Amino acid sequence: MPLNPEEVSSIIQKEIEKYETKLKMESVGTVLQVGDGIARIWGLDDAMMSELVKFPNDVTGMILNLEEDNVGVAILGPYDEIKEGDRVSLTGRIASVPVGDVMVGRVVNALGQPLDGKGPIAAKMYRPIEGKAPNVVQRRPVSEPVQTGLKAIDSMIPIGRGQRELIIGDRQTGKTALIIDTILNQKNTDLYCIYVAIGQKASTVAQLIKVLEEHQAMEYTTVVVATATEPAPLQYIAPYAGCAIGEEFLYNGKHVVVFYDDLTKHAQAYRQMSLLLRRPPGREAFPGDIFYLHSRLLERAAKLKDDLGGGSLTAIPVVEIQAGDVTAYIPTNVISITDGQIYLETDLFYAGVRPAINVGISVSRVGGKAQVKAMRKVAGRIRLDLAQYRELAAFAQFGTELDESTKTYLIRGEKTVEVLKQGQYVPVSLERQVMIIYVATHGYLDDLPLDSVKKFEDEFYLFMEKNYPDVGHAISTTKDLEQNTESKLNQAINKFKEEFKDRLKPE
Ligand code: ATP
Ligand code: MG
Repeated sequence: MPLNPEEVSSIIQKEIEKYETKLKMESVGTVLQVGDGIARIWGLDDAMMSELVKFPNDVTGMILNLEEDNVGVAILGPYDEIKEGDRVSLTGRIASVPVGDVMVGRVVNALGQPLDGKGPIAAKMYRPIEGKAPNVVQRRPVSEPVQTGLKAIDSMIPIGRGQRELIIGDRQTGKTALIIDTILNQKNTDLYCIYVAIGQKASTVAQLIKVLEEHQAMEYTTVVVATATEPAPLQYIAPYAGCAIGEEFLYNGKHVVVFYDDLTKHAQAYRQMSLLLRRPPGREAFPGDIFYLHSRLLERAAKLKDDLGGGSLTAIPVVEIQAGDVTAYIPTNVISITDGQIYLETDLFYAGVRPAINVGISVSRVGGKAQVKAMRKVAGRIRLDLAQYRELAAFAQFGTELDESTKTYLIRGEKTVEVLKQGQYVPVSLERQVMIIYVATHGYLDDLPLDSVKKFEDEFYLFMEKNYPDVGHAISTTKDLEQNTESKLNQAINKFKEEFKDRLKPE
């Protein structure tokens, strides 16, 4: 068959018209230098700050330094196999984590990848780990409490939803214990919990997760883990990742509390990275932007206005100090960023006052407004009682003659301290707290032996629930201690005390 030149040329013409260049530009650079989890890369001229890059073997990195002729990258994963001359490509993505309900109940690393062996996370949404904090117009004053279930905190150092409250203390003073109890107390509430473990031993974190699981607390909790063995960059981004997971709740009108345990180790990881990136060291060898490191994290805590959904994100960072010294660089910084601190003391811890909170120097600058009425009514006195007690106890040590009223204060103080002690994993409900603090501040314990206070407390709760359930019910539903409830409470306490004292008498 003869070729038809016209047909051929029209086919060619059509093919040419259909032809389009499928050119995909990919920025590729070369590793100049690598060591200790940091790489310098040449050739990534259009890189963005915080952009993710891909190394061979699918290892991710994050851009931290943009310099004239190279970029500094933190390697977020195993870096042993990366060597000079390796090719590195830009991904065009900023570091982000999966967010949403799928994250609840999961244990993830700082990149949001599962560590719990419960399979992949089917995330539909991602959020950049660095987020902008809500501005003043979007916020409203803190108005609802985060009930920790810890008598000493809820009564005297109340935490409000959207607030930033620091837990500060030496090592092994029960800092993490406060967090665990607070998480356990959120069962059957509308508050989600996110626990970020930074620079801790893997075994410690595993233990904590086990406790949460045993108490069914993982049902509303996400754990973000960057252990001490993880590269410093992962420890560095972990709190921002945790915060981003929390923000998804915040901006959807829900309530969440994020714990950062702890920011001392976070700062140390950042220092290590900064030194490797050759940023100039300053005080305590920390880089100059260390304040911003924590301020931009904690500023993301907020209580939003109602027309923005009214959600809240409460931030509870932990700072470890040495020998009670709060004047070191990181503690002073974080104290100045937060709205108050819960100060834990070794001496108290070993004297058996647990939680070892020094109430004299612990404060919550906004939480009082968030306290429910019932609590405010009974707790007003307790701080004063304790302050007076501490002052007088110092005098009483000298063995001076004491007048009657001084003795009363001392006895009242001792009993109050006893009432505020609390074991682990036994959060106390609001109504129980109100009732027992009422008992203590109204002097009902004054004439009882000190070592019977714990027994009194345990049995009193049961007595009330059995014989006067309406008192507790009224407190928990109205959140107030109305006059008739109060008189019923008084009546109940008297009745119980009589019976209790009878039982205390030796046979
Ligand atoms: P680290 O500095 O190692 O992180 P930490 O300050 O977080 O320590 P925890 O691990 O919470 O302290 O507690 C230290 C020890 O004290 C633990 O063994 C814990 O079980 C115990 N502990 C904490 N709080 C209480 C409490 N209220 N009653 C009894 N034991 C407690
Ligand atoms: Mg701890």
